[in-house]
Amino acid sequence: METFTFRAAGEVTFGVGSIQQVGLKVKRHGGNKILLVVDQGFAKSGPLEKITDALKKEKISFVLFDAVEPEPQGETAEQCGFLAKNEGCDFVLGVGGGSAMDTAKAAAILATNGGRVRDYQGLDKVPRPGLPKGMVPTTAGTGSEVTFTAVFINTEEKKKAGINSVHLFPEMSVLDPELTLSLPPAVTAFTGMDALAHAIESYTSLSANPLSEMVSLEAIRRIGKSLRQAVATGSDLGARSEMLLGSLLAGIGLANAGVTAVHSLSYPLGGRFRVPHGVGNGLLLPAVMKYNVLSRPERFARIAGALGEKIEGLSVKEAAVQSVEAVKRLAHDIQVPERLSDLGIPESAFPWMAEEAMKVVRPLENNPRPVSLEEAIGIYQKVF
Ligand code: NAD
Repeated sequence: METFTFRAAGEVTFGVGSIQQVGLKVKRHGGNKILLVVDQGFAKSGPLEKITDALKKEKISFVLFDAVEPEPQGETAEQCGFLAKNEGCDFVLGVGGGSAMDTAKAAAILATNGGRVRDYQGLDKVPRPGLPKGMVPTTAGTGSEVTFTAVFINTEEKKKAGINSVHLFPEMSVLDPELTLSLPPAVTAFTGMDALAHAIESYTSLSANPLSEMVSLEAIRRIGKSLRQAVATGSDLGARSEMLLGSLLAGIGLANAGVTAVHSLSYPLGGRFRVPHGVGNGLLLPAVMKYNVLSRPERFARIAGALGEKIEGLSVKEAAVQSVEAVKRLAHDIQVPERLSDLGIPESAFPWMAEEAMKVVRPLENNPRPVSLEEAIGIYQKVF
């Protein structure tokens, strides 16, 4: 067995009603005056006062920043970091989907390191630790509460890129499934497909290790079992809990094994066409699985089993192909966009998109099958 390293974020608290503990947790991690970064959608329709009440109970004062846009730009995190520093905050709490959590994570490191988001995009470019930070996810998708990544659009270059640094691992997170009840069905669907992409990509990644494989496969099982129900009946707390646990596990898998070609191919959709991250990943996932399936058939066969496919009596190859069909059916049932043409992306953009995808190198290096520029264009054509 090869040597491997398994990395994990700090303290994770999970459970219905656990948000009541958020003040106590923040206090224990040194927060007395905090920057509270809140997603706009959640601020409008979610129970924000549960969080503010829990903070007040512990006499924690907070400065509110609620201007995070979906798929945030670097400038948003920079404003936020500036606010944290100017107000003398000692902790940053991010509440929302990946967009708000990533903004909070970046604000925490900008407050102590200075500079701009673009200075740190890439791997291991953040010199110093940030302010301590905690995350409260309100979508079941990105797993950002346990990853060392924060992703931003560079508007000048129309590119999306991540800051990847150990200093971005949150010190603590609180996951309360009740906070995801207000997610509309379409957002539940595409964020859920994002979590499934993280789970499947990290499970099939060439950088997977025995521990990451366990969490990734378990994530696939939980998401496969509950995503349809969470979309169809958003008030089902059982399905919401399974989804939030699934996305957490998928985030742990992704933080250790990375992602694969789905993410490389999907980044240009977000950077130039502002396609939400989960929509792009959900659309490309079955096509990339089909491209990869015969390079790691045993793994794809196990994915089929985890998704509840009947694989007894099938050959490994037949079972592996079933995994692609299962994900296609799931995507179809929950009505996520299945074609690039539905998103208004013209075929003429494919050469540019493929060139940009080739620059998102690390996921391509993890992909079980090499992807050339021509093959990338071919995958885009298959989902046009
Ligand atoms: P999001 O954070 O953009 O949220 C999607 C929409 O849902 C927004 O309109 C938001 O206002 C709304 N919303 C969120 N929670 C809600 C709630 N409980 N009730 C009602 N509305 C709610 O979407 P996301 O998919 O969670 O995050 C996407 C971002 O995360 C992208 O920028 C992506 O690149 C990034 N990302 C980061 C990581 C990581 O490891 N850091 C991983 C994957 C993706």
